[in-house]
Amino acid sequence: MNTDEAERDNSMNVPLLDLKAQYATIRDEMREAVDRVLEAQQFIMGPEVAALEKAVADYVGARHGIGMSSGTDALLATLMAYDVGPGDRVIAPAYSFFATAGVIARLHAVPVLVDIDAASYNLSPSSLEQLWGRLDRSVQQRVKAIVPVHLYGQCADMARILEVADRIGVPVIEDAAQSIGTIYRDGRFAGTLGTMGCFSFFPSKNLGGIGDGGMVVTSDDGLAERLRLLRNHGAQPKYYHKIVGGNFRLDTIQAAALLVKLRHLDAWHEARQKHADLYRDLFRQAGLVGTVGLPEVVDPTPGVRSHIYNQFVIRTPNRDALREFLTAQGIGTEIYYPVPFHLQECFGDLGHKAGEFPESERAAHETLALPVYPELMPEQQAYVVERVAAFHKVG
Ligand SMILES: *Cc1c(COP(=O)(O)O)cnc(C)c1O
Repeated sequence: MNTDEAERDNSMNVPLLDLKAQYATIRDEMREAVDRVLEAQQFIMGPEVAALEKAVADYVGARHGIGMSSGTDALLATLMAYDVGPGDRVIAPAYSFFATAGVIARLHAVPVLVDIDAASYNLSPSSLEQLWGRLDRSVQQRVKAIVPVHLYGQCADMARILEVADRIGVPVIEDAAQSIGTIYRDGRFAGTLGTMGCFSFFPSKNLGGIGDGGMVVTSDDGLAERLRLLRNHGAQPKYYHKIVGGNFRLDTIQAAALLVKLRHLDAWHEARQKHADLYRDLFRQAGLVGTVGLPEVVDPTPGVRSHIYNQFVIRTPNRDALREFLTAQGIGTEIYYPVPFHLQECFGDLGHKAGEFPESERAAHETLALPVYPELMPEQQAYVVERVAAFHKVG
């Protein structure tokens, strides 16, 4: 948009995420940390990796952190730690980022999909129970894990999921890629409720690196040991391979950058929460509540950080038109995610049909993420809501 148009529209640029704005606040610390790694030239498993593993484990209250090359590889390694292989089954929600189901298929196991809860977008415990009841006994016996996702920054209903998991004797691996620092209602951190929890340091996550990165946290010594082996080709000692793993190591330079950013993480969470509160006020004042659905905190607990707003996701039946309108007004949005797993081309051989997971499909059609990054300004939020109101011709 050129200046004339901008003036005529009283327009503003509000990107979905502004990493440059964040970098401007930590530039000196970041450069110093990266420079230290450059001077040391210990790019693989340098001391910063262990330091970050300890810092993240301490932050969430786990015994171990195992740095990984990405959130995807973190998930992959947890399934490998349980020897998930051809013909095995792993239960996952039908609606999430692709990696949750992709890692299952990569091991030639079968993703067994469950619909989501409409309010939280997370795996529905009642659908999980129904699914389990429908599975043949021979299939039940092949189920190696349940992988709930804590989508957008809010925990799945872990009490009920863990209760079912316990009853059926299947371990729970948490995909907490979007929820590092989210606190469940019992005071425990996302990622520490199952046997293993996976984080992603993809740059758009609340704790984002300067490239790809991830981590598994666990309080099980045996699993931690196995994950450390798996991420380094199963070698111990070097060149003697106990098991077949991969190169899933976290780079030293990522760990160094993440150690800096971790110091700011709580302040960033707080800023995102403040923005979410302001959005709620603004949407209410604009008379938009009911016209657009605002994110629901399904388990609000006083004094507990139940949502870290990795994304602030609204829903509306007119999603695509709204998105197009906002794009034209200089407002960045994103659709997380347009296609649920059961309708993905690559999962065609699972034999699912449209209509099978109605809440996942509805979410795929209706959700839209608005800017909620920590450095977002109140006047930018006011502009976003004013433009959403203009689209709906209210306010
Ligand atoms: C980001 C993300 C991942 C994968 O993380 P990468 O670091 O990008 O590999 C997995 N699951 C969910 C829900 C995510 O949002």
